[in-house]
Amino acid sequence: MGIRITANHVGMTLVNMRSEIEKTERVRMKFSQEISYCVELASLAKKFLGDMDEPDKLLGIGISIPGIINQEQHLVVKSHALQIENYSLNFLEQAFSCPVCFENDANAAMLAEDINQYQDAIYLSLNNTLGGAFCIDRKLFAGQNRKAGEFGHMILVPGGRKCYCGKKGCADAYCAASALTAGRYETLEQFMEALSHGNSEAEKKWAEYLDHLAVLISNLRMAYDMDIILGGEVGGYLADHMIPLGEKVMEYNGFDCDIRYLKNCTYRKEASAVGAAKHFFYELIRNI
Ligand SMILES: [Zn+2]
Repeated sequence: MGIRITANHVGMTLVNMRSEIEKTERVRMKFSQEISYCVELASLAKKFLGDMDEPDKLLGIGISIPGIINQEQHLVVKSHALQIENYSLNFLEQAFSCPVCFENDANAAMLAEDINQYQDAIYLSLNNTLGGAFCIDRKLFAGQNRKAGEFGHMILVPGGRKCYCGKKGCADAYCAASALTAGRYETLEQFMEALSHGNSEAEKKWAEYLDHLAVLISNLRMAYDMDIILGGEVGGYLADHMIPLGEKVMEYNGFDCDIRYLKNCTYRKEASAVGAAKHFFYELIRNI
């Protein structure tokens, strides 16, 4: 089972050994540092698993968290999204009666992809905040301080829009899903619906969005020269918009003659929960 924790929601997903989603559910539940949150989350998971055919076959629960995680010390070093620093994961782990593992949300989303397909790749997680991860030789690259892949806080527009991290002009302020929904739409679905109905304001916003995303993609391709997987909530929709995005990317990148390196994500929803769950498959395979 995979659980995706965000500031205001919990996403739960049951994944079988063929990496297929058996069941998924999203519940509104505000994150809090109180122990009651851990207890409530465990009871939510228990309820979710309630009608599982063979509960003894559950390998474990992988939990994805939007923040920097120190797995050895069971600690969230820092999470802007959850507004926590040096948060111990011990209570959360103890609340469950099965093996539990924790993973950064973007890393988990990367792990949801078939790592045999991608030897080297970047994963852009275009959710309400912009996460990133990348693997080299099929292994996640963490960096010296586990901060590698923070593409959301690379400056895209000097002095530009304010980012939640406190800086101005970060890629997050332009390429996260919230850049599309801010001010007018409650959900990305609502925005995409307006776009599909030809709403001119939505069309203008979308064109601007693709333009900024193209700059980010082009910069990442220059730096890493590897496949770039478009994931997260927006990534799920981008499969239908690859031609206009590709045209914009080509305008900025004179070094590639096509955009075959741009890939669409496998899981349009709850990729982080799937990837966190798949941790136990990798562990099982390693132990065979
Ligand atoms: Zn930022």
